[in-house]
Amino acid sequence: MSRKTSLLLIAPILLTACVTPRRPADFPLVDYHVHLKGGLTLDEAIEISKKNGVKFGIAQNCGLGFPVTDDAGAMQFIEKLQGRDVYIGMQAEGREWLSLFSKDVIARFDYVFTDALTFTDDKGRRTRLWMKDEVFVEDKQAFMDMYVDKIVSIISNEPIDIFVNPTFLPECIQNEYDDLWTEQRMARIIDAAVKSGVAIEINARYQIPSKAFILQAKKAGAKFACGTNNGEKELGNLEYCRKMIKECSLAKKDFFDHNKDRKKHAQRQNQIR
Ligand SMILES: [Zn+2]
Repeated sequence: MSRKTSLLLIAPILLTACVTPRRPADFPLVDYHVHLKGGLTLDEAIEISKKNGVKFGIAQNCGLGFPVTDDAGAMQFIEKLQGRDVYIGMQAEGREWLSLFSKDVIARFDYVFTDALTFTDDKGRRTRLWMKDEVFVEDKQAFMDMYVDKIVSIISNEPIDIFVNPTFLPECIQNEYDDLWTEQRMARIIDAAVKSGVAIEINARYQIPSKAFILQAKKAGAKFACGTNNGEKELGNLEYCRKMIKECSLAKKDFFDHNKDRKKHAQRQNQIR
């Protein structure tokens, strides 16, 4: 075959490779962070899930001062969702959740996740990062170092499957996100997640973590999970997650699958204890 002929043969292939946009996600997505909030009913959520072609994990907020505070409440939620076309999630709240729920009941959920938005800071103040008057940032760098320590401790010590709302910053420092989330700080969180087998949420509502974080985490072998964390009825359709999947070339293997990963994680947890 002459060089010219072979070039003619491969030209269309090259051309196709250049002009065909990468498909946003060629695998089915799961939104593991849907809440029945703002009047959203289970039936409505299932309808939206079918319409969007996205399987939903519906999660209940469980913890001190939240709708469910004990085993009985958690079981009620599980029974309500059992047999329906959704996964059943536990959003563990605050740091005292492990003392409120038995291991058996925790294990009945399809998966468990938490965030680091609620903690007691180094001066003993209960902090909720989304509440303006409960956020104390006297020194930005010191705050970030303390916050990273809290996140690493949560990921390393609590029996969770997904770490959600990752890298969320309180409003007073939100516009400094890229400067404050240095490569070193991101690395500490990513290392902890990889070591503990905890997936990192790509959050559609807050549009976090940043692309830089996702690329760094992907390189380190971390797993991801899509999540909306709706505060109201409006759910969207994982727009930010789809954008990041495309821009960071994430594949099915990069994503948490509770059917496979939860078991592996539980085994690891049992070995630790
Ligand atoms: Zn949530």
